[in-house]
Amino acid sequence: MPRFDAAQATKHPISVLGTERPARGRLLGVLIALREKNGYVDDAMLRSVATLFRLAPVEVYELATFYPAVGYKLGEKTRSAVACGDLPCMLSAPQPSGCAPVACRGRCAEGSRPHRSFSVLEQVQPVFEQPSCGFGGYVAQGGYQCFEAVRRGQITAPAIVAAARSWPRRLPVATKWPLIAAQGRPPLLVVNADESDPGTFKDCYLLETDPHGVLEGAAITASAVGARRIVFYVRHDYAHARKLVGHAIDEASAHLSDFEFEIASSGGAYICGEETALVASLEGQRAIPREKPYNLLEHGLDGHPTLVHNVETLYRLRALCGSAPMSAVPASRLLDPGIDAISLTGRVAEPGIKLIQWRGSLRDLVIDCGGMRNGALLHGAIVGGALGSIVTGPMVDWPRDQLERHGVFLGAGGVTVFSSDDNVREIAVGMFRFLARESCGHCTPCRVGTAHAASALAAPSPDVDALADVALAMREASICGLGRGAGRLLTQTLSLLREPV
Ligand code: SF4
Repeated sequence: MPRFDAAQATKHPISVLGTERPARGRLLGVLIALREKNGYVDDAMLRSVATLFRLAPVEVYELATFYPAVGYKLGEKTRSAVACGDLPCMLSAPQPSGCAPVACRGRCAEGSRPHRSFSVLEQVQPVFEQPSCGFGGYVAQGGYQCFEAVRRGQITAPAIVAAARSWPRRLPVATKWPLIAAQGRPPLLVVNADESDPGTFKDCYLLETDPHGVLEGAAITASAVGARRIVFYVRHDYAHARKLVGHAIDEASAHLSDFEFEIASSGGAYICGEETALVASLEGQRAIPREKPYNLLEHGLDGHPTLVHNVETLYRLRALCGSAPMSAVPASRLLDPGIDAISLTGRVAEPGIKLIQWRGSLRDLVIDCGGMRNGALLHGAIVGGALGSIVTGPMVDWPRDQLERHGVFLGAGGVTVFSSDDNVREIAVGMFRFLARESCGHCTPCRVGTAHAASALAAPSPDVDALADVALAMREASICGLGRGAGRLLTQTLSLLREPV
């Protein structure tokens, strides 16, 4: 059964479901659609949804209060404007008055309009330019040839895995595909476009500027591993990207008739990007990560073996099939393994996506990408997103390989730059406030530790030794990468406090 279509639902969120009891997996989509249509979700709507799904009202309330994309608050009806309250925008401009602060919405590339406010009903505007290459142009430049070669068996899954193993950039193809093949049951493919890291928007860029490039990567993967069902799980703020993906699927339908597609909205929580949490949200549950070892490749969405890949992995996949960058599609430079897609934000003159080869220092990167804004002095950056590292002091001039030897990785590509006017401890407090807000609350070290770190670091004289114990507990006893990564970040922050720069 096709999963709930949010675009259709915004017209008639409940009536489109008919009178049959819908599958539980459609529950989150219905709630998001109600929010998008009305600007809010109220008690009466939740009770109607509970009746329709034949669920206890508490089960629907549980979801509605968990997911920011639903945004339900008891007894509250609001259509107020909201604005990003996370670090990339905090470093760009003051919070607009009269706007409720919300999580980063991935629109930091709008450099000329930083930190602008949004109506909660305003969802569909593109962040980037229109697709640089439509279906005709994409095919004219050799698009879908790799997919056709895989479909016809001219390029095999083992050959792609072998290519992945020798490619200079790690793609999880080499680790996941052999395991999914060993299941002996048809798998599902989920395209993870949740992208909820503050100041990170490369998935949005790829989906908006070259949706066929992403789609072909998904089709190559599905064909190679024998999947017939492909689910695009797209951040709820990226309504325009969802629309373009749907349009691309329609345009390429003659090539892709082997597959069933679904496009689902994410719930708007950072943890939705964790694979097991993502699958839980697609099943109509709260996005709470499952304790490891838990293998989606064996038992994933609705019990099927499930392969989850992120957008960038799928986009780069054509390179393993011998495809060369397309001159008319800027994003296709990523078929070169030496090129990074960096989401540059903060106190820089030209925020946005940078497709560049970054080998030098952070300072080199900032200079190469247009320098600081208004003559500000570079003091450092958060590299690698919310669970990344604070790079400051002498590290600003370390080459990238030296940074990596000290545990600083680009991760999903977010780099948020701060200046000598910014206080590193306040930056860290902002990061821990984000993590405390986004912790799903399932395990105590993460739930308590992130909130404690945020408040303790904001105090005039934090107890560094006590915080070191908290960091250790978070690293050792959290069940997912959020809590463990928060523990590593706290350890790094404490070393900065001990040796201030
Ligand atoms: S580590 Fe944090 S985000 Fe992950 S499951 Fe535990 S409480 Fe949830």
